[in-house]
Amino acid sequence: MDTLLNINTKEHDEKRQGEAFAPLVLDGNEYKKLFYIESYGCAMNFADSEVVASILHKNGFGATLQFENADLILVNTCSIREKAEATVRKRLTEFRKLKKANPGLLVGVLGCMAERLKEKFIEQEKLVDLVVGPDAYRSLPSLIEEAETGQKAVNVLLSRDETYADIAPVRLNSNGVNAFVSIMRGCNNMCSFCVVPFTRGRERSRDAGSVIAECKSLFEDGYREVTLLGQNVDSYHWVGNESGGGYEEPVTFANLLEKVALISPLLRVRFSTSHPKDITDEVLFTMARYDNICNYIHLPVQSGSSRILQLMNRTYTREWYVARVNRIREILPDAGLSTDMITGFCTETEEDHQQSLSLMEYCKYDLAYMYFYSQRPGTLAARRFEDDVPEEVKKRRLQEMVKLHRRNTLLSMQRDVGKTFKVLIEGFSKKTPEELQGRNDQNKVVVFPKENFKKGEYVSVKITACTAGTLIGTALI
Ligand code: SAM
Ligand code: SF4
Repeated sequence: MDTLLNINTKEHDEKRQGEAFAPLVLDGNEYKKLFYIESYGCAMNFADSEVVASILHKNGFGATLQFENADLILVNTCSIREKAEATVRKRLTEFRKLKKANPGLLVGVLGCMAERLKEKFIEQEKLVDLVVGPDAYRSLPSLIEEAETGQKAVNVLLSRDETYADIAPVRLNSNGVNAFVSIMRGCNNMCSFCVVPFTRGRERSRDAGSVIAECKSLFEDGYREVTLLGQNVDSYHWVGNESGGGYEEPVTFANLLEKVALISPLLRVRFSTSHPKDITDEVLFTMARYDNICNYIHLPVQSGSSRILQLMNRTYTREWYVARVNRIREILPDAGLSTDMITGFCTETEEDHQQSLSLMEYCKYDLAYMYFYSQRPGTLAARRFEDDVPEEVKKRRLQEMVKLHRRNTLLSMQRDVGKTFKVLIEGFSKKTPEELQGRNDQNKVVVFPKENFKKGEYVSVKITACTAGTLIGTALI
């Protein structure tokens, strides 16, 4: 297993990998054709699938959860680690077999694998009919037409300004309570291990007016939580222009958070991901000012060794990171904190690894996404450094890290027993319809007896027990 995630994840939910999507209401007869879409990778990819669904809907395609019924099968891919690529390739091979029985079926690859593997997929392996990169979804209808005539349709051009700001995403498989809202695309950081700047292009911020309009409309539709998404939300920067927003001053991330929080005190606001070099005190103070901005920060560190951080080109040191965490604890004493960690990056020694463990011990994360290093073609690390830590060592270090983290999360959960939290109800618990499930401000999953409470309501829950991933309690009336 190369990825180990805690169960109350939201942003990179391992259980959602490969999830098939369909809108809440489906009337197959309304549409001329049906599409099936499966998504992999991070929340941004899942949010992109909702933009794709919107474009396809406008062009007469309805969504189906049964790929056997589809005229068009799309796989929205991730290439962050080798395993993610392998999973997608296997899936595409399975879909290709369906074409024998249904020659009119089109199979397409979307997202991060598109650029690097377009020739392989289309020309050499003849796995797919369409390859569409993350900035080219507007061209899907014309590419589908092209593919229908038997031509191979490809558009993997990256853009400097595409943000799909004007496209209202079609919410797929939604619980009607939580929604992801993309506020920017791409990334300008060049972390040496990371393929994102190459697959998703340059960073660009989305029109602030369109972000707020989308959040407002979600609230009016009954949603009670939005998660603002970007690879590095703290570098969000929107300068109003005639076509969008009409803001006289540039809108920073702190300003945007505030504007979304002001939509209604009943709308919870979350965000991901914060970069340690960019998160500002202004953001922390804005969080402190508004009750509905959740006290939870995802602050990936990647390593606890300053030497490794430098090789990773993260542009901060361990000391800088610790100072940011201290500041968070000072301004937001109750904040939940999570991170991403990589074990076995190039040249990592046992001592570097021990520093990662000691940093985790210091920060006492509530949640951590831990991976072993997977070299990605084209990245700075692949070009400059040797991938010299043996796989068994990477995995052993990962296991040690996971063990430490499990102990810390259990302690963090146990500390919450006896406390009372405001919980936004998201639906039934996974075990029984007699119980409801939601999350507290700090992003921890809370389960409690159903009584007469409903999805979308806020309820105060007193915590009476816990497991490593769930707080268990009773609602206070
Ligand atoms: N933008 C976010 C940030 O800077 O923290 C992270 C984006 S990336 C999609 C999510 C996580 O995947 C990273 O934080 C990192 O821990 C992990 N990751 C990225 N490239 C990796 C690689 N080559 N091998 C292992 N893990 C990787
Ligand atoms: Fe990748 Fe670094 Fe950008 Fe995150 S900040 S997406 S890790 S390059």
